[in-house]
Amino acid sequence: MKIIDLISERKKEGHIPFYSFEYFPPKTEEGIINLKSRIERMVHQLNPLFADVTWGAGGSTSTETINISSWIERYSGTEAMMHLTLTNMTLEQIDTAIEEAKEKGIKNILALRGDPPRGQEAWRPPEGGLHYASDLVRHIKEKYGDYFGIAVAGYPEGHVDATSKEDDLSHLKEKVDAGADLIITQLFYDDDVFIDFYQKCREIGIACPIIPGIMPIQSYQGFHRMTTFCKTKVPQQILDDLEAIKEDEDEVKKYGINLAIKTCKKLAEYGIEGFHFYTLNLERSVIAIVNELGLVETEREAPWRKVAGRRDEGVR
Ligand code: FAD
Repeated sequence: MKIIDLISERKKEGHIPFYSFEYFPPKTEEGIINLKSRIERMVHQLNPLFADVTWGAGGSTSTETINISSWIERYSGTEAMMHLTLTNMTLEQIDTAIEEAKEKGIKNILALRGDPPRGQEAWRPPEGGLHYASDLVRHIKEKYGDYFGIAVAGYPEGHVDATSKEDDLSHLKEKVDAGADLIITQLFYDDDVFIDFYQKCREIGIACPIIPGIMPIQSYQGFHRMTTFCKTKVPQQILDDLEAIKEDEDEVKKYGINLAIKTCKKLAEYGIEGFHFYTLNLERSVIAIVNELGLVETEREAPWRKVAGRRDEGVR
């Protein structure tokens, strides 16, 4: 089912905010088996609205991304969303990937431009391919009609290549106008930056759900690596707090859990439809956050949930 339809159903029934989980394809067969067990545990315990799988930079994980997304859709008990980037892809290759996704039961795509492939500084448009994510959204709509639910990326701090925050917002609107039905944001640690972005989106007429991307701090090193890579603004208070506990992994995890809970509670006041968690393929922090927020619904309370029987459809 399309994620936007699930969100609409929830809204009609006055449900509390949903949550969804992002995973990335592991490099080894054993890693993939472990990830599937983890996804099953998380789906079983927490009942997320959907789970999505990243598309490695430059298409480096395309096969695994399609296969894991398909497995989620068919066997995990939740809806799948597959990331797809246009980097390094001709139009023909994009269509091959979309056709395969369709054949394998995937109904939702997060349409992205993509980052430069590893070792390449600046992003370059592929020859014989598309340029912006809005082109990809338009292409999917033109060629596949309403078959796929389409999400796109939004940047509360503005995208790094954007000429200005205003330009970036108008390009975000282009993606929605081209047919995207929801926005998932880049990670952020300054709640006010997200709130400002959210309000500006509404002011310029973006009416679709805007789902904040929440990345719980799971380790000091990982946090620094990720915020440096994404050029994320981190409030001084958070940096000071972390500096004091950086040698104690458990304390850092606990801090990350509490910080994410605080952020979700604050954003919930703005009528946010849901929270999207970057799990980093780990479960402990996300399980703690979702439980503590009191958002977990039982199957009976959540009729939009996939039928558990689908898990028995075939061999995994
Ligand atoms: P676009 O929307 O195309 O924007 C890219 C830049 O071009 C922006 O600066 C924008 O302002 C500008 N722009 C857009 N349209 C125009 C126009 N018409 N004229 C001039 N300028 C324009 N990367 C991966 O490789 N794999 C993933 O799985 C992945 N998942 C992600 C998930 C989320 C939720 C997010 C937020 C990001 C993800 N990324 C992923 C990173 C993303 O690919 C990069 O941030 C990439 O640099 C931009 O992608 P985009 O789809 O936002 O691009």
